[in-house]
Amino acid sequence: MLVPAGAMPQDAWKIDNTPLAGPTEILCQVEALNIDSASFRQLCDSCAGDPARIGERVAEIVSERGKQHNPVTGSGGMFVGRVLEIGDELQQSLDLRLGDRIASLVSLTLTPLWIDAIEDVDVATGRIAIRGKAILFESGLWSRFPDDIDEGVALAVLDVAGAPAQVRRLCSPGDTVVIVGADGKSGLLSCAQAKERTGDQGRVIGLVPDGSTTAAQILQRERLVDDLLVADARNALAVCERVGTLAPGLADLVINCVNVPGTELASILCAREGGIVYFFSMCTSFTAAALGAEGAGRDVTMMIGNGYTKGHAEIALQTLRHHPALAAYFNATYATRIRV
Ligand code: NAP
Repeated sequence: MLVPAGAMPQDAWKIDNTPLAGPTEILCQVEALNIDSASFRQLCDSCAGDPARIGERVAEIVSERGKQHNPVTGSGGMFVGRVLEIGDELQQSLDLRLGDRIASLVSLTLTPLWIDAIEDVDVATGRIAIRGKAILFESGLWSRFPDDIDEGVALAVLDVAGAPAQVRRLCSPGDTVVIVGADGKSGLLSCAQAKERTGDQGRVIGLVPDGSTTAAQILQRERLVDDLLVADARNALAVCERVGTLAPGLADLVINCVNVPGTELASILCAREGGIVYFFSMCTSFTAAALGAEGAGRDVTMMIGNGYTKGHAEIALQTLRHHPALAAYFNATYATRIRV
């Protein structure tokens, strides 16, 4: 059952979340939800940061829609759980066994989810421990947890795996790259990839809202950026002017990794004529980007941040393994606090 009829699970308002696996589905016991940053920030703001209210709101959304599809941001997240049942038609073809512990790599906005109880809300990481069940479709991506990385850290990395993997693909040696929101999860991993790919002749500019944070300091200390730009990405003219001072030809590639609305124009104005702007942020507005570029007369290629890039999970985890300082930071910030 999909509402409206004819919709697909992602764009449906409501999906059937009966916790039973069909022949081509996998039923999982869910232990935790990892809410995406844009959605969690919106939930936090609307619930005044109160964990109990955030939990209630998530339970309400799931009971209304059959999935954790934030109606304000339109975004979701991923889940962690164990395989309970594998549909008849998948049993031979899947490299999965009952009881295997996995993270879903497909959005909660299309994942049938049933919540029995909200057990804990970790406001610092956007992680919510629940008792519940979810269904993965045959096409749904999933990943086992690596042995050498804490589960909470792996989850934080896998959540944003599409960003560093795309940066790796889009960057060329010698490029100038601007990463907007460089001090968040996807921003840090993207800076590491951009620096590696652009090489000595390239230039990576990391834009952060506050230069005094540990993440901002790591970016500089570990030389993951050539320049740290402290600015509010909602202030398009100021950002463009300052990027223009650092890189007069502007950027070949701009990666937007923020979790707030209103940063499309700054990203567009930082890109050179013919450059690429990659909007990974879930706060991106198509109209603001399309009409903003038109209004500014900028002929840039704009890409929507696909959560999936071939090999993205392994590329993202490898990025962490290659950068011990990043790994230490992710461990200090995202290591498992609630039992997931
Ligand atoms: P994150 O760790 O919360 O990082 C977001 C960063 O943006 C933070 O460092 C934040 O700084 C910074 N920021 C906020 N307001 C800013 C401003 N006005 N100017 C400059 N920087 C600002 O988020 P994430 O997990 O990396 O995710 C980044 C975005 O990708 C989110 O929108 C998330 O929903 C989205 N996402 C997309 C996909 C996809 O498939 N495309 C998948 C997962 C997530 P402060 O912390 O100091 O505020």
